[in-house]
Amino acid sequence: MTALDLIREKRDGQAHSDAGIQYLVRGATDGTIPDYQLAAWLMAVRLRGMTDAETTSLTLAMAASGRQLDLSSIPGRKVDKHSTGGVGDKATLVVAPLVAAAGVPVAKLSGRALGHSGGTLDKLEAIAGFQVDLSIDRFIDQVRRIGIAIAGQTSDIDPADRALYALRDATATVDSVPLIASSVMSKKLAAGADAILLDVKCGRGAFIATIPEAEALARALVRIGTNAGRETIAYVTDMDQPLGRAVGNALEVKEAIDTLAGRGPADLEVLSLRLGAEMLRLAGHPPVDLHRLMTDGSALRKLAELIAAQDGDARVVDNPGLLPSAPVKQPVTARVAGYVARTDALEIALAGKALGAGRDTKSAPIDLAVGVVLNKKIGDPVKAGELLAVIHARTAEAAANVTDRIAAAFTVASQAQPRALLLRRVTATDIQRLDT
Ligand code: URA
Repeated sequence: MTALDLIREKRDGQAHSDAGIQYLVRGATDGTIPDYQLAAWLMAVRLRGMTDAETTSLTLAMAASGRQLDLSSIPGRKVDKHSTGGVGDKATLVVAPLVAAAGVPVAKLSGRALGHSGGTLDKLEAIAGFQVDLSIDRFIDQVRRIGIAIAGQTSDIDPADRALYALRDATATVDSVPLIASSVMSKKLAAGADAILLDVKCGRGAFIATIPEAEALARALVRIGTNAGRETIAYVTDMDQPLGRAVGNALEVKEAIDTLAGRGPADLEVLSLRLGAEMLRLAGHPPVDLHRLMTDGSALRKLAELIAAQDGDARVVDNPGLLPSAPVKQPVTARVAGYVARTDALEIALAGKALGAGRDTKSAPIDLAVGVVLNKKIGDPVKAGELLAVIHARTAEAAANVTDRIAAAFTVASQAQPRALLLRRVTATDIQRLDT
């Protein structure tokens, strides 16, 4: 068998054997298949798709391409949470300390921003001193001690995904259900949790734009997890407009702190409470009043413990003013009166990236202070001249460069339908329409 055989097979719409998939993953991992052949194969998969059996086989081979964590020394059923990527999606920063405060151990490996989507590790690095590079021993020991750790994936976990993802990003092959499903689930399986909760983002600011496609991805993710013996549940949630109001690393940490203190935006609070309750259920934990943990200080104290354990300045939870802050704050106002009918998450993310909040390659530096804070969400009434958003920029020139783009991301019309945030709940046996 050669890489050429596999490219030809997929180009012609045929299914690969397990042996073929294992050959390809081995070649991607050890570099014996050149990038140009991997890129051609990825495009063939993007255009021709994969069967369920192929997607599962690819996922298992990728998960086995490197180190697989053993979390069995941490007592209790460990539940992982993963979002497929969005704009302003700081839910992990809220949900992880929230469920840890309820007594569920959280051992979370997270990623960095890439393309237009944000990454939890970059957000955490907005906290002075916060260490995301933990050894596996320190990571596991911390979860045993304080019930929570959030760290970057070490380079020996799922090296096949690292190789394939970098090529996908450069070859317009990210938006493929089998490729996203195998990328997400191989990392989740290698990370060792007993159960997995997935937040499949759907809309302009996500990698998947429509509900039918997001539902197909959610089903593929759940099927793979279930077949691998991990209870897996997926939510499909709206990503047409940014989640919450803040987009940008330090700005999002501040919003997560506000939410853990019971003062967050409604959509972020609703999503966090729903995902948190689901994580408790998956962990086999009795229900807990998670909203109470947000208002009595328990969730915030757990975040402070996490920050201190990872060498960060935990004073930020009581004083978010310690976070990096951009020197220029430029208002964006409405030209006409009406209702906000649309807030284009992709345009806002791209404007944030132009300000320096995102990156094009994995190692590019980012400005942790800059971003955009929305003053209006879909469905809100707005008067002419009223504030739509505030740009947080390094210079007045940088702010001026994105002002029109941010203004154009808002559509103000004579009427608007508020958007449903929670769209579907997908389990191994059932798909529930939520539309709330
Ligand atoms: N997140 C991932 O980890 N992989 C993808 O392919 C898309 C989102």
